[in-house]
Amino acid sequence: MLCPPEELLQKNQALSTTWQRYQALPSFESFVELAVSINSFTEFLIDKGVTALHHASHQLEQVTLALFNKDVGHPLPQAALDDLNERLRALTRMTHAHASATAGLVEREQDLHHAASQAVRLGQIWVITDAPAAWNSLQTQLGYFGLAAGFIPWETAIPDSADVSPLLLLDMGTLHESAWRPRIQALRQRFQMGQLIGLGVRSDFEQLHEVLGGGCDSCLLEGTPPHAIIERIMELNERHEQEAFRVLIVEDSKTASHLIRRTLAENQIVSEIVNDPRQTLTALKQFNPDLILMDMYMPNCTGVEVARIIRQHNEFLSMPIVYLSGETNVALQVDAMRLGGDHFLTKPFNPVFLNTIVRSKIERYRALRRSMYHDSLTGLLNHSSGKNTLDMMLSGIAHEGGFLSVVMMDIDHFKQVNDSYGHPVGDQVIRSLSWLLKQRLRRHDILCRYGGEEFLVGLPHTDAEEAFAIMDRVRQDFAKIRHPYRDTHFHATSSAGIATYPLHQTGDALIKAADAALYRAKHGGRNRIQVDAD
Ligand code: GH3
Ligand code: MG
Ligand code: MG
Ligand code: MG
Repeated sequence: MLCPPEELLQKNQALSTTWQRYQALPSFESFVELAVSINSFTEFLIDKGVTALHHASHQLEQVTLALFNKDVGHPLPQAALDDLNERLRALTRMTHAHASATAGLVEREQDLHHAASQAVRLGQIWVITDAPAAWNSLQTQLGYFGLAAGFIPWETAIPDSADVSPLLLLDMGTLHESAWRPRIQALRQRFQMGQLIGLGVRSDFEQLHEVLGGGCDSCLLEGTPPHAIIERIMELNERHEQEAFRVLIVEDSKTASHLIRRTLAENQIVSEIVNDPRQTLTALKQFNPDLILMDMYMPNCTGVEVARIIRQHNEFLSMPIVYLSGETNVALQVDAMRLGGDHFLTKPFNPVFLNTIVRSKIERYRALRRSMYHDSLTGLLNHSSGKNTLDMMLSGIAHEGGFLSVVMMDIDHFKQVNDSYGHPVGDQVIRSLSWLLKQRLRRHDILCRYGGEEFLVGLPHTDAEEAFAIMDRVRQDFAKIRHPYRDTHFHATSSAGIATYPLHQTGDALIKAADAALYRAKHGGRNRIQVDAD
């Protein structure tokens, strides 16, 4: 996805403004604002995948961080001022160059996205290799998921007409190691917003250092099978859909809490403030945060006491709690963490640390929750969370009105797949159906691995006829996928049953009716979809 140039320029303008404000009024507070603004710009660039600008911004951030030192007064020494000024100007120049280079492209991309509707969200995929035959099977398999990959030899230039944010798979094995770094750097330079993945890299330090140092975003080591490469590509495809991070700020001081809230907002982190710690539990339930920032000293109780109360509730046992306090006594900090905290930040807080720690804690927390609610083979919702989500969605639909279709989809004669090709190959077939469903369904649809090779799908605001059309396309495309086995391949088919709200009222009734329809589809000869009322 491209970053809209106006948004990029606006962000850069905000940065220039804080720099001017610091120059006019060089205080510690305005320096904090500058640091927040630089950090926010850097995070923005990461979010939007503007890699080349990101390096420059990140360096500027490092320089600023180094100036967060008690011995440095404000205004900063002249040499530091000049250095910052030069770096900020260079960054602004690069930003403008980048914005004008991408101006026309965004519109074109948006048009394409509309046309492709819910299909592929990735840009073009190119495999840069001198041995294309080795990647034929990857190319074919990508094709079944609606992803087209082209081959380009290392010596050949990528056509001018290429996307500005392609996915480049670099087959390092076919290029002499001494040429790795300059080649990768040249590609990075040209496709600043692309994703570069090194393939066939050895796991040792030297090779990884060359590839990542040259500018690759990640590597897939030597021997990675095609399905794992496809899996990585699918992950990239999903990455844009992350929901905003949510933080609950428990802090009695209105000034402090609003400063924190603003710092977080600069980094696209949503927050809610609780000034009276006794309101914490209510706020937790209503706001449903990913993390709590907890003041240490408050009028009615301490942060540690609040944390202990929170930890008495099972659902908040793993919720990260980060203390924010003026306390510099190490023994107290250790105590605070022993009693249910995850981290300790001292005030005046360094905004860059605050942001980084909040983000990394939330990422780990979300990963933990994912493993609780999602199935490990496919990443889809597991049986119980799929059912729960369906019940929640139903109460929403009952309230606002409309249809909701429930689909049970099951792979045909799957026992034979296991018996003929082995369980691991069977797993891969299950995974490929889940990828296909992820590609085809909308973000707010329910997608759940209900059982072994059985999937539950919930389609809100979709009547039975529309649900049939969507699922029948999935059925047809799944049947076309060639599943590799040794040096040959096989096909698998699927059947599904559909039931719709309000004809059936509860989650259980919908699942039962969809299951009965699936049973009829199986008995009607398989590789077909059956609607429950028909
Ligand atoms: P039908 O067309 O009637 O659905 O026939 P089927 O062979 O698919 O029948 P059934 O649903 O009874 O068989 C499902 C098989 O799936 C049984 C089980 O061994 C296998 N299975 C269940 N979970 C997994 C899994 O996680 N991985 C693999 N490879 N196989 C699984
Ligand atoms: Mg306080
Ligand atoms: Mg089956
Ligand atoms: Mg089954």
